[in-house]
Amino acid sequence: MSTEHHGGPGTHTHPGQRAHSHAAGAHAYDLPPLPESVDIFDTTLRDGSQQEGLSLTVDDKLRVAEQLDHLGVTYIEGGWPGANPKDDEFFQRAPTELRLSTSTLVAFGSTRRAGVAAQDDEVLRKLVDAHTPVVCIVAKSWDRHVTDALRTSLDEAVAMVADSVDFLRRHDKRVFLDAEHFFDGYRHNPEFALLVLRAAEEAGAESLVLCDTNGGTLPFDVEAVVADVVGRVETQVGIHCHNDAGCAVANSLAAVRAGVTHVQGCVNGYGERAGNADLSAAIPDLSLKLNIRTIPADRMERLTPVAHHIAELVNIAPNPQQPYVGASVFAHKGGLHASAVARRRDLYEHLSPELVGNGARVVVSEMAGRSTLAMKAAELGLELDGEVLGRVLDELKRLEHEGYHFEVADGSLELLLRRAGGWRPDYFTVESFRVITDHAQPVDDSSGLGAATTEATVKVHVGPDRMVATAEGNGPVNALDAALRQAIGPHFPELDGVHLTDYRVRVLDTAKATGAVTRVLVDTTDGTKVWTTIGVSENIIEASWQALYDAIVFSLVHADGAA
Ligand SMILES: [Zn+2]
Repeated sequence: MSTEHHGGPGTHTHPGQRAHSHAAGAHAYDLPPLPESVDIFDTTLRDGSQQEGLSLTVDDKLRVAEQLDHLGVTYIEGGWPGANPKDDEFFQRAPTELRLSTSTLVAFGSTRRAGVAAQDDEVLRKLVDAHTPVVCIVAKSWDRHVTDALRTSLDEAVAMVADSVDFLRRHDKRVFLDAEHFFDGYRHNPEFALLVLRAAEEAGAESLVLCDTNGGTLPFDVEAVVADVVGRVETQVGIHCHNDAGCAVANSLAAVRAGVTHVQGCVNGYGERAGNADLSAAIPDLSLKLNIRTIPADRMERLTPVAHHIAELVNIAPNPQQPYVGASVFAHKGGLHASAVARRRDLYEHLSPELVGNGARVVVSEMAGRSTLAMKAAELGLELDGEVLGRVLDELKRLEHEGYHFEVADGSLELLLRRAGGWRPDYFTVESFRVITDHAQPVDDSSGLGAATTEATVKVHVGPDRMVATAEGNGPVNALDAALRQAIGPHFPELDGVHLTDYRVRVLDTAKATGAVTRVLVDTTDGTKVWTTIGVSENIIEASWQALYDAIVFSLVHADGAA
C-alpha cells in the first residue's frame, strides 16, 4: 500500500498559496439536495471544557448534560474516560444519576497506540468500560502528524484506525471517527486522508467526522472537500469545526450543504482558542433558515434559556452580542426607528426572537410564565391561586432585575414559591452574624503574601434557646456554614448528612466599579440530591449568607418530610 503522496489532482499547493481543491474555477462538483435532518453532537463537556477559565466539577457536568438533553441534542459527548479522575467519575455516575430522555451519551477516546494490539490498549479498554452506547475516537488524518508527531508509518496509522474501530464494534459499541486535521491533511495528502476514512468505514464506523482542528479553513474549501468525500464513502459524514478564522458556524453550514448530516459543536461556542462551532447559532441556522430538522421543533424556544443556564453552570458571563441568544441581539436602540420597530418588527429583525426563546430581556419569570410556575407549584404540592401566582411573577421579575437568576437556583425558587403560599420557616431565627478576615504575616515570610483566615460568629434562636457559635473557614461561605451548623446542629441532627459541595461567586455589572453587585450560588447535597441556592447583594458576605441560609432551610424542609 502506498500512502505517501504530496498534492493530488487539483490539490497541489505551494507554501502560502491557497489550495482550491476540487473547486478550481467554477464548481467542479454537484451539491446534493439538503438533508431532511441533521444529528447534533454537543461536545461542551469534552472539547468545550478545554476553554481557558472553564472548569467543571462532576456535578456541573451532570447538570450541563441535563440541560443539553432538555434542549434535545442528538448526542452528548461526556468526556474522555481515563484522561482524568473527573471524567472517570462522570462516566461512573452517569448511568444512575443522569436520566436522558432525548440524547445519547458518548464517550471520547483515541485509536490504539502505534505498535500495541487493540485488546492490550488502555485507552480502548477504558472506552469499553465507560458503558455508553456510542464512542467517538480521534485519529490522525494529516500525514505529517503521523510521521512527525506520532513518528510512525502511514500504513500503521491506517491499521490503528481499522483495528480500533473493529475492536470497539466487537464490544457492541456504535463508533464515530473524528478525523483530526482532516482539511489540512486532505490539502497535503488526500489519498492518505481518504484511506483513514475508508479504514474506519470498512471496520464498521457509523459516522466519519471531518475535523477542522486548527480552525483556519474557509467555507468554500470546506464545501469542496466535503462534496468530494461524500462522493467517495457510503457512511454518514460529519463535521467538527473550530472558530479560529471566525468561520466555524459558516463552515458547518457549508458542510451540510455539501452532504454532511452530523454536526459537532458546543453550546455558546465554548472551546479552546477561538472556540468550537456555536451550536446556539448552528441549530437555528439549520432549522429555521434551511428547514432541516435538528432538535425537536417544539423545543427551539428552549435555545436561549438553555444557553443562559449553561453559561451560569460553567460560570462564564453570557455574551450579550451572541447571535440568536444574546441579551442584546433583539434589543433595538430607541430613537429614530423605535416607533417603526414597534409597528413592523419583521422589517428590523431577521426572525422573531420568540422562536428561539429570546426577548428584549430574558428572565425566568418572563420565559417561564404563569403556567410553568403553576406547574412547579403543583409539583411541590402547593395550591397557589391566580392572584398569588401573579404576585410571585412580579416578585421574580423584580429579583431577577436585581441580579437573581432562579433558573439555576432551584432550591431558592422552591422556597420563594413556598413563602408565596403563606409558609414561614420557623426552624430558627437569626439575631446576627459577623465575619472577620485576619491577615497574618509570619515573621520569617518575606513574600508579602502571608495567610488569611476567616472567622464567623453566628447568633441564632432555636425555640427558647439562644445559641452563639464561632468557627473558622477558608472563606466567608465556609466560615458562616461552619458557625451556623455549630449553632443549630444540636437541635437538627439531620444536618449531619448535608454538606456544601461547591459555591460560585460572580460580580455582576462590572461597569460600575463601586456599587457592583455580587451573586453567590451555593450547591448543597444530602448524599442523594443536589440543590442550588442563591444570594445577591452589594456585599459579598450578605450574598453568601442569603445563599447559605436558603441552603440550610431547604435541607430542613426536606428532612422534615414537609415537602
Ligand atoms: Zn475540536
